[in-house]
Amino acid sequence: MEYKRSSELFVEANKVIPGGVNSPVRAFKAVGGTPLFIKEAKEAYLYDEDGNKYIDYINSWGPMILGHAYEPVVNAVIERAKKGTSFGTPTELETKIAALAISMVPNIDKIRFVSSGTEACMSAIRLARGFTRREKIIKFSGCYHGHSDSFLIAAGSGASTFGVPNSPGVTEGTAKDTLLANYNDIDNVKQLFESNKNEIAALIIEPVAGNMGCIPPKKGFLEQLREVCSENGALLVFDEVMTGFRLAKGGAQELYGVDADIVCFGKVIGGGLPVGAFAAREEIMNYLSPLGPVYQAGTLSGNPLAMAAGYEMLKVLNEDNAIFQRLEEKTAYLEKGINEVLSENKMDFTINRIGSMISVHFDSSPVFDFETAKNGDNETFKKFFHGLLQKGVYIAPSAYETWFITDALTYEDLNYTIKAIKDVAVEL
Ligand SMILES: *Cc1c(COP(=O)(O)O)cnc(C)c1O
Repeated sequence: MEYKRSSELFVEANKVIPGGVNSPVRAFKAVGGTPLFIKEAKEAYLYDEDGNKYIDYINSWGPMILGHAYEPVVNAVIERAKKGTSFGTPTELETKIAALAISMVPNIDKIRFVSSGTEACMSAIRLARGFTRREKIIKFSGCYHGHSDSFLIAAGSGASTFGVPNSPGVTEGTAKDTLLANYNDIDNVKQLFESNKNEIAALIIEPVAGNMGCIPPKKGFLEQLREVCSENGALLVFDEVMTGFRLAKGGAQELYGVDADIVCFGKVIGGGLPVGAFAAREEIMNYLSPLGPVYQAGTLSGNPLAMAAGYEMLKVLNEDNAIFQRLEEKTAYLEKGINEVLSENKMDFTINRIGSMISVHFDSSPVFDFETAKNGDNETFKKFFHGLLQKGVYIAPSAYETWFITDALTYEDLNYTIKAIKDVAVEL
């Protein structure tokens, strides 16, 4: 495969955009080489500017759970655009998508829409602090909650990929209010609560971590977090930007049967347009402006185009009762296939998977937190990534990313992928 035009476009982009990209992990810095410039996409496939075709396992980092250019979503956006793209006033569509989301997700009464997952998590934490009148938060090493200041501390994928866990520009004052815990380590969490009595506003977690590869919670871990938060008067915040509307209609709350106090959304909820949201029971949500004292706003929040895309997306996920089962089966099939071909080649690896989130770590010991995720062999990953790319299989250009399976993938695509992995493994 040739990447001639992509290389040229990357040179041009670098002159006017820092690193040539508007989000760092797109730059291929962790794997080397030139990022692909994508011209168009349809269903499970990406087409780059050089005319190469790829089976896509990034899917815009999650949103395209039904595949690219999914017709009902595209048509809804086109029809909506003809009637005006932004008014800065309430629209009926916002109430419709809010009601639908609330009907799908357990344990939430009200929801507010924003424009990204970052905004959702940032606002959720402000709300939690305002509601509890406390300042500190607990986050887990390797979890990513967007790029707002409080969270850029051991922040997983993007940040870890570059070995800059703490970004310059985040003040010490801000960083000191973020306490770090190890994923899947309940004793560690209990110690933090113990040594910061009545100071912790919230604990935020990816209920299935997806930004240090895919790391599921150990059995009982989320239940224990629920308990310890309740005992200490802290809010439990589930960052379901990745897991929401992906693992089940009601996300990880439904899958694990654990109720969070505040839930954050992004990615799938926007159907490929910029949408984030946060939701909670009424008592908490009424703390938001204009009803309550916690300020939060956005010129393009609840934007009609974005809401039209999100609404169509959620409607399909709500009405198709078999979709999450189908995604589970396709991803389990892929897992089994990868397992077989990598084992045949006697490679050191661990596969983690929950539903349609899956990741391959090049290390044979169990991967259950950030430390164990870092044991993966990055040199092997680089070769694996480029080998697959050459064969037309596009996975995320970082060993710390989860692969996102789309319902548009056919079993033929999956078989092709498994064969490609087999061929790459032989070359390794
Ligand atoms: C992607 C992601 C975010 C940030 O969302 P953006 O829309 O990129 O700002 C937050 N939390 C999690 C778990 C994510 O995966």
